[in-house]
Amino acid sequence: MSIISQEGYSFKFDSSKCFSCNGACCRGESGKVWVLIEEMEKIANFLGIELEEFKRDFVKKEGERYSLKEIKVKGEYLCIFFNPSTCRCEIYPIRPLQCKQFPFWPSLKNKKNLYEVCKECKAILLS
Ligand code: SF4
Repeated sequence: MSIISQEGYSFKFDSSKCFSCNGACCRGESGKVWVLIEEMEKIANFLGIELEEFKRDFVKKEGERYSLKEIKVKGEYLCIFFNPSTCRCEIYPIRPLQCKQFPFWPSLKNKKNLYEVCKECKAILLS
């Protein structure tokens, strides 16, 4: 079952289309992927490194919060965990909640924001 819907959202999401996508939600314009301490611990553990090493190499501190670093390649920004050769997330099983919840984000209840994202993401099904 690849068609996902969620109460309160006007669209559906066909996750099967993610397999034919070049990772549009993990690359493009600069953005923020917020990570909680618990998530950073899980990812560090997955990578087999200490939390402090993870913080140094993979996140930026933004006020009291942390976001994943990005890498600029040929004019676009890639999430540090996006592998452009495979177009896959290197930490997919333990990716941050923000990534897991995409596209069911409160900001995408706003039609203008939703239509912007739809230009990139073909898995969002408008009704
Ligand atoms: S953590 Fe993975 S799913 Fe989330 S933006 Fe980065 S590459 Fe994409």
